[in-house]
This record gives sequence, C-alpha cells and structure tokens, in this order.
Amino acid sequence: MSGRGYVYKREPLVFELSRPGRKAYSLPSLDVPERPMGDLIPENQRRSTPANLPEVSEVDVTRHFTRLSQRNHGVDIGFYPLGSCTMKYNPKVDEAVAQYDGFASVHPYTPEELVQGALRLMFEMQGYLCEIGGFDAVTLQPAAGAHGEFTGLSIIRAYLRDKGQGRRNKVIIPDSAHGTNPATAILAGGETVEVKSDARGGVDLESLQAVVGEDTMCLMLTNPNTLGLFDENIHKAAGIVHEAGGLLYYDGANVNAIMGYARPGDAGFDVCHFNLHKTFATPHGGGGPGSGPVGVKKELADFLPVPIVRKQGDRYYLDYSVPKTIGRVKEFFGNFGVVVKAYAYIRSMGPDGLKRVSEDAVLNANFLMHRLKKDYYLMYDRICKHEFVASGLWQKERHGVKTLDIAKRLLDYGVHAPTVYFPLIVPEALMVEPTETESRETLEMFAEIMAKIAREAETSPEVVLQAPKTTFVRRLDEARAARQTDLAYREAQETE
Ligand SMILES: *Cc1c(COP(=O)(O)O)cnc(C)c1O
Repeated sequence: MSGRGYVYKREPLVFELSRPGRKAYSLPSLDVPERPMGDLIPENQRRSTPANLPEVSEVDVTRHFTRLSQRNHGVDIGFYPLGSCTMKYNPKVDEAVAQYDGFASVHPYTPEELVQGALRLMFEMQGYLCEIGGFDAVTLQPAAGAHGEFTGLSIIRAYLRDKGQGRRNKVIIPDSAHGTNPATAILAGGETVEVKSDARGGVDLESLQAVVGEDTMCLMLTNPNTLGLFDENIHKAAGIVHEAGGLLYYDGANVNAIMGYARPGDAGFDVCHFNLHKTFATPHGGGGPGSGPVGVKKELADFLPVPIVRKQGDRYYLDYSVPKTIGRVKEFFGNFGVVVKAYAYIRSMGPDGLKRVSEDAVLNANFLMHRLKKDYYLMYDRICKHEFVASGLWQKERHGVKTLDIAKRLLDYGVHAPTVYFPLIVPEALMVEPTETESRETLEMFAEIMAKIAREAETSPEVVLQAPKTTFVRRLDEARAARQTDLAYREAQETE
C-alpha cells in the first residue's frame, strides 16, 4: 500500500553528469559562408568566458528530468486531496486541443479577421461562464483567482464611485475565508471587517447585521465556504448587504461543488470570479499559469476591463469601447492557453457532465468524511459539499501527534497531504477535497491510510512524529525552505 512502488528511485551512480565535450545534439556541417562573429554580436556584448553549462548527452538529459519529475507528487501520479485547491485529474484531450497550432501559435497582434476561431472560443467561453454562474457579462483577462478578486473589487469600487458612493470602503469577510480575500480587499483600497461564523459554519446573520452600514462596500465570500459547508442563509445574507447599499462578491474557487445546482448570480451575488485552473480541469500547482475570469451583473458590465469579445453578425471582434472600464488588468487577453483547456473541458463534459462533476465531487467528499469521522474530530458534523475539514485535535491532545505530523506521515504512504491548519477557525485542521475524478478504491485506500495513521498515533507515535521516511528529502524547516530556497546544485555541493 506504499503507493510508491512505481517511482523510479535509483539515484545515478555519479552525481556530476557533465563531461567536457559531451553534447545532446548534432548539427549539419556549415554549408554557407562563415561570417565573422563581430557582424552578428557587437564586441561589448560578447562574453569573454564560456557559459558554465553542463555538458551532457541526450540520454543524460532525458533521464535526469524524468527522474526529477518523479520526485514530485502530482495529480498524474497519485491522490491529491489538497482542500480548497480542487486538484482534479486533467483530461489529456484538453492539452491536445490547447496545442493545436491555431491556438498555440497565434500571435496576440494577429488581425481579427485571421483569428476568428480564437475569438469565437473566447466569446463562447464568456457565455458559458455567464450561464454557469448566473451573470450577464464576463472578462477572461485575470490570470488567477486572486487576480480575479482584485479585478472584481476594482469593478465594485468603480461602480460605487460612479454612483457617488465612493466613501464605501469596508469589505466584510467571514472568519473562515481564504487568505487571498482580505489581502485583495486591502490591495483594492478597501478595509476588512470580519464577520463570525455561526454554529453551523455559515455567516452569522446577527453579526452581519451589526457590521453592515453606510460604509459597506461589499460582502465577500465563497459558498460552499472553506469549511465545505453550504450557507443555507445566503439569500438572507445577500438581502442584509443589499439593503445596506453594499454589493456581493462571490469567490468562485468552490464552484466545483455546485455546478448545475446553484448559481451565485441567482443567490444575489453581483460579481464573481472563477478559477479555471480549479473547477475546469486545467493543471495547476507549481506556479501556474492560471486563469480567473470575472462575471458581473449587467449593472456592472460597463466597468469590465477591455477588451471584451463580442459578435456582430458572423464576425467576432474585440471591443475596447466599454464606457466606464477600469482599464486593463493583464496584457492582451489573459492566459489564453488556459482558457482553451477549460473550454475543451466544458465542451467535452457538456451541461449534464458538469452537473455530474459536482454530484460526484460532493458524494466523494461525504463518503470520505463518514469514513474518517470515527478516528478524527469533526467540528462541523453535517453534510458537506465538495470538501470537509477534519481535525487532528484528538491525536494532539491524546498522543502529542499534531496535524503537521499526520500530514507528513501521509507522504510515506504515497498520497499528498490535505490542506493543513486552514481554515483558521478549526484547530489542527485537515481539509480534505477528494474531487470527482477519484475512484471508490482510491477513496477507500485513503480512508484506510488515515485510519492506520490514527492507530500509529496511538500505539507508536514516534513513527508519525519522525515522518516522512520514504521521501527524497526528510522533514524540512518549511519556512526556511520557502524563504531561502537554494536551487543551484553547485552551491549545494560546496556547502555539503
Ligand atoms: C484558491 C482559492 C483562491 C485563490 O485563487 P488563486 O487562483 O490561487 O489565486 C481564493 N479563494 C479560495 C476559497 C480558494 O480556494
């Protein structure tokens, strides 16, 4: 059950692969007159010493990178239940479509007449997202969820200013929120106001009522929230905020839970971002690229970034004349390649398929939640949506084994750890999001591993405390590893 048997673990016999003169290519001999170097590169721009590059053969390069790729965990290698991130499997057909020449090689300055297909794809994508979210207009420009949040809040601010309500600057955010929400609120020139969660994990309506007022810019939340719980009072919350003259921003990172069943636009939200790289099966992790389109209700459509793709007769064109646009938020048209993958995904799933995605995502999460709750504390024991938050609190109090230790031990069993210590309102949080693409067998395997770790914590806690043992690197000082990352292998060699 280690799950790691298929990983090629053997290290090369020698560490330094470079040998003088070894090459991974061969070029045909020169059949044109040789030109002096000075014609091509001016003297002052030429280097005086050769670049210090490894000299290796093709097979060395292939093995090196293949080996490195296997040291990393990824969705294509194993289970990846990283809560809030929707690490679902990305069908390879979407990659194939994104690599079509007409998409991959198109230049952003190509005249509109020559890229009608690409424009049509963007136009239709705007429409699909409107339909899925219940909005009237969409921009595909933002490059990620957080960037979408910034775009959305900038639109709200511009709208309120235009209405003479520019003094409204308070962004109300639940205490369960994702960290990007308050960060975005500040970046967009607002101030944050926290609202408490109630006993069922939703927005506490009394607290909300107490904080709304003449300075309310908007309520910003995700539903289901980061506890994986659907807020049943969302219509009431929307009413309270609208009544006070504020708007509603929907963080669409959790749309995987509701497709075909609920639309934020119908629940009263005015603005929303989508994470194409979460819900719509685009690979992510490792730094992107992503895409965070923003949908708005028609009152706000005049404020969208430019350009928007529109259609006149049979012709698609880029419209730069959005009257009160907030401007551009990204060069050109956003991360077009990601939009293509998401488009291919949406088209191949169809409306029924997307609905099924949400059904299976929710079913898988509930299945796992029930399997885990015997061994792990559940602060909110109610039906969840696409994810749930368990806790290592029992293990910590009874055996001195923390959530971090459990997460590390999971690596020994070949699965990626859930999101840990988030959301902040659950102590020792273990946030599990299995996604719809996992089989029952995988879910069973994970449940068994979690049960096994719970038993280990009881009977041999040192095993869990010392984990991981089977990974390429053992337990790291994560803060240092992130802040003082050293990727230069030569340097590392010297200090060893
Ligand atoms: C992932 C996530 C975000 C941020 O999205 P990025 O694409 O990572 O910038 C915001 N809110 C929630 C709830 C998320 O899960």
